[in-house]
Amino acid sequence: MPVLPMTRELLAIDGGTPVRKTLLPYGRQSIGEDDIQAVTDVLRSDWLTTGPKVAEFEEALAAWVGAKHAVSFSSGTAALHGAAFAAGLKPGDEAITTPMTFAATANCVLYQAAAPIFADVSADTLNLDPEQVAKRITPRTRAVLAVDYAGHPADLDAMKELSASHGLVVIEDACHALGAEHKGRRAGSIADMTVFSFHPVKHLATGEGGMVTTDRADYAETLRRFRNHGISTDARQRQSQSEAQWHYEMVLLGFNYRLTDIACALGLSQLKKLEKNLLRRREIAARYEVALCDLKAITLPTVRPGVNPAWHLYPIRLNLERLSADRGKIFRALRAENIGVNVHYIPVHLHPYYRDRFGNRAGEYPIAEAAYARLISLPMFHAMSDGDVEDVARALQKVIHHFAR
Ligand SMILES: *Cc1c(COP(=O)(O)O)cnc(C)c1O
Repeated sequence: MPVLPMTRELLAIDGGTPVRKTLLPYGRQSIGEDDIQAVTDVLRSDWLTTGPKVAEFEEALAAWVGAKHAVSFSSGTAALHGAAFAAGLKPGDEAITTPMTFAATANCVLYQAAAPIFADVSADTLNLDPEQVAKRITPRTRAVLAVDYAGHPADLDAMKELSASHGLVVIEDACHALGAEHKGRRAGSIADMTVFSFHPVKHLATGEGGMVTTDRADYAETLRRFRNHGISTDARQRQSQSEAQWHYEMVLLGFNYRLTDIACALGLSQLKKLEKNLLRRREIAARYEVALCDLKAITLPTVRPGVNPAWHLYPIRLNLERLSADRGKIFRALRAENIGVNVHYIPVHLHPYYRDRFGNRAGEYPIAEAAYARLISLPMFHAMSDGDVEDVARALQKVIHHFAR
């Protein structure tokens, strides 16, 4: 491991030499020749959209996470919308969710004209705090939408307990957590419905794409209809032979949220490498921990007992009391060193849309807001080399030592 520098180096932001020559992004996909081959094979086949690859990908992903059903969608956001619909969210209903997420998690509740109700997070994992959730339950609450922040599973045992006593649907936004384990079970096999994203920065990339996994056949059927205009194909099977060729029925108001055969072929090919890529992410997290654990001015992510995170993000928190600069200054200094740090997330209730519509004010969710002021996501993707990890550690040491007080 690099030795801590005793003198303060000239930062790149002040005209010094950056730790890296080129920018290391915070996340990115890796596409191999096998992936390219899988996609070109589909392009030469009879199917571009709904063909054999869709069902194949759904079945493979369901089996991999340990769920009975998986329904693909054109994005993680569309999949969240599907889950909100299948959960029965409607005007007048409330769904409790976390402010420490990407806006899409809360938006899907609004798509159903229901109300997203935020609850504060636990200080260690930045996942929904069950006690805060309990305080927000009303007779109108229909669902809890928990996010596995950074890839660390939310406290689903507590969420399921709450939901059992109040008749709520538990939806897990596991867009960060494909492959995360909780007491030996993979995300996707625990909640009533679990949502995944296949955006290029996530564990498995299909360009755009998403999936809902569930053990409930009724949810799966509703999800399939919802993503295909609300069309039921059961009617085709009921009709006489002659009419069977053209008959279908639209039974609910759905959307075109289908995922293409092209994307599913890429997904199937990427799925073969998921296990290996997860191992690499865990290795990178372990290397970060060894390299950074001596830096007193930062706090590394916590892992609760019984949990094996999927490490979509590696979010550190600055101990601002020990630093003479704020998060913005340290962020800019790291970027100048060519480390593509990012921030996840601006708490959702503080976005102008949510402020204007719900009159949310700063200070309502103090744990999430205090965390936000200190958070910096370090680069984390499976194709990072050990040298890349060392560059990040070196840049952090350089910048943190410069601003240490
Ligand atoms: C990526 C992500 C989404 C949205 O997924 P898309 O596939 O980009 O639509 C939703 N929630 C969380 C927490 C995410 O990280």
